[in-house]
Amino acid sequence: MGHAVQALRFLNLELDNQFQELRRNLVQWSKEDIFSLALADTYLGRSARAAANTRLADRIRDRDIARIMLANATGDIIAASDPGIIGVISIADRGFFQRSLTGETVVESLSKGRYVEYPITIISTMVAPKEMDKPGVLYLVLDTSRFAQRLLDELRVGQSGGAVVLDPQTGIIITPSWATPGQFNPGPHLAALDAIANTGEVLRYRTGAAGMETERMAVAGRNAHTGWLLVVEADAHEILAPAAWLATINGLISLCILVLAAFSLAALNQALGGLRASEARYRSLIETSPLGIATFDGHGRATYLNERAKRILGLETAASLPEDWRLELEDESGTLLPPETLPMARALAEAAPMHGWTAWHRRPDGQRRVLSLNAAPLMVSGQGSDVVAVMEDVTDLYNARQVLQHSKKELETLVEQRTLELTEANRRLLELDELKSAFLSTVSHDLRTPLTSVLGFAKLIHREFAKRFAPQATDPRLAKSATTILANLDIIVQEGERLTRLITDLLDFSRLDSGYYHWKDGPVDLAALARDAARALAAAFGENKGVRLRLDIPEQLPPMQLDPDRIMQVLINLLSNALKFTAQGEVLLFVREIHDTGQTVVQLGVTDTGAGIAAGEIGRIFDRFYQVGQAGGSMETNKPLGAGLGLAICKQIVEHYHGRIRVQSEPGRGSTFVVELPREHSQALPA
Ligand code: ADP
Repeated sequence: MGHAVQALRFLNLELDNQFQELRRNLVQWSKEDIFSLALADTYLGRSARAAANTRLADRIRDRDIARIMLANATGDIIAASDPGIIGVISIADRGFFQRSLTGETVVESLSKGRYVEYPITIISTMVAPKEMDKPGVLYLVLDTSRFAQRLLDELRVGQSGGAVVLDPQTGIIITPSWATPGQFNPGPHLAALDAIANTGEVLRYRTGAAGMETERMAVAGRNAHTGWLLVVEADAHEILAPAAWLATINGLISLCILVLAAFSLAALNQALGGLRASEARYRSLIETSPLGIATFDGHGRATYLNERAKRILGLETAASLPEDWRLELEDESGTLLPPETLPMARALAEAAPMHGWTAWHRRPDGQRRVLSLNAAPLMVSGQGSDVVAVMEDVTDLYNARQVLQHSKKELETLVEQRTLELTEANRRLLELDELKSAFLSTVSHDLRTPLTSVLGFAKLIHREFAKRFAPQATDPRLAKSATTILANLDIIVQEGERLTRLITDLLDFSRLDSGYYHWKDGPVDLAALARDAARALAAAFGENKGVRLRLDIPEQLPPMQLDPDRIMQVLINLLSNALKFTAQGEVLLFVREIHDTGQTVVQLGVTDTGAGIAAGEIGRIFDRFYQVGQAGGSMETNKPLGAGLGLAICKQIVEHYHGRIRVQSEPGRGSTFVVELPREHSQALPA
């Protein structure tokens, strides 16, 4: 009886294996994106449903599965291995459907289907939805008899024995296809068999037509997956008779082989399951990759495109994959690229990865996109026959770079243009400057020559007239007229001299300003120079009775490397201004050497007790052509008029020697102008 028990175990195990595999497969299939997508009530969902039909039809091939279907949340069939039933049947009221909607994987056996007359087994599981959609149920229908019979056919015990399957719920009995009618008839003993199930006990019963009855012995077991009762039975005499031993041993041996095979099959199944799981893992990784991934066979036919690749190539809704890897790839000018130059072909030809390719692709919707492409041969046992390509849509990046390059070029052109304009403007300015200097010196020279004559003759006439004619005018009227003539001649001389000064100032300033002035530096004792300046103006001070010139000058100072004429000009300017703007009091000229923060500075100062300068004007008096109130003096006060250039010239000279000039003044209380010349910047000479 032992081998009957073994046969039972094997049957049970095999049944479990088969169911487990079916279950596992179904659960795995339910995770495929295509089924989730098919649940969406969108255009994309519709194309996914079409693809799901083909996939489901593929899945039932070579298996005992009669049908496999996908139902939506309301129980309507939306995809099926047999598309004829789509929309025709509803499973809304079915228990397995309701349970699977909550996430359970269900196995259910029925004596007959609702739409078929034979017993069926249903395995169902949930399909998780994408985003906002509702879940669905994927379920398969198994032709129970065919499925069980295939197992039973392989099992014999001796001559008369074998196995049968009983469904206690439906009363269905499935016998091997090789069984003769009436050979197995455990039906009447269902309850008794049920009672000994999984106990290892043996049930004996009589069966067969009256008079031809035989005694049968049976062991029973219950299959956990299906709830089916598996019964192995054989004639009692065959099991018990010694002659049957050989056959029994034979049976046992084949049973052992079967059990071994079953175990190997189970192990293989498990390995396959693992492989499938890992394939599913990689597939979902690749599916969700943000890069487009595609595979091509050796003939350039696309064998796989992930979602991103389809989107990049504009093939989301295409029914089939592109025929070859040109994929309408072009160069930037729009010329189609020869297939053999593409990275995919080159990766295959050179058996090496190809990186950093850029190509242009015209999508079916007419859009032209820029793609970055990399390709590598798919190595299987050292040989590459397929190729994998990774693509990225870099259009936006490319466009941004183009705009940037364009702007850069525009900017460069603009800068170039502006530089040219500036260079031209500068050249013209220099030209103008030269012209101005030439003009000034020519004009000043040309003005000065006749002016010298005018002045000379005016003075001559004045002298001659005063000496020879005025004394002759004894008549009081003539004498008065002679005095007026002399006064007028004085005015001509004065104004002529002023004009000469103005022209000289103008000439000096333009020379200094243009940098063309030739500095004649030499050793200068500033104390001595200051005394010379005072001497030069002594006459002018002498004429003005109300103003006294006082000096505060050291005996001698170490010489400094300076242009004496220019420093003299500064001192004369300052002293003349002081005299010009002082009606009463004194003008002090001082020279000092001071040591300040490690620096030796010579100060030349002129202090007066004159009109002073308003605070608002102080900042501007050193500007060229600036005169306070636009009047440097007046005819009435008999002060010579200036050109507003004197202080500007002083400032230029002082700054040439890295010195500075400043003023302290208060209206009505006089002014102090101080020039500071640092020794460091003029080469000190031995005293
Ligand atoms: P200008 O040659 O016309 O005198 P400056 O450049 O020498 O021109 O002086 C500019 C102005 O500064 C003068 O018009 C005058 O108003 C004022 N200024 C210069 N020195 C004195 C001073 N010592 N007292 C008062 N005002 C002065």
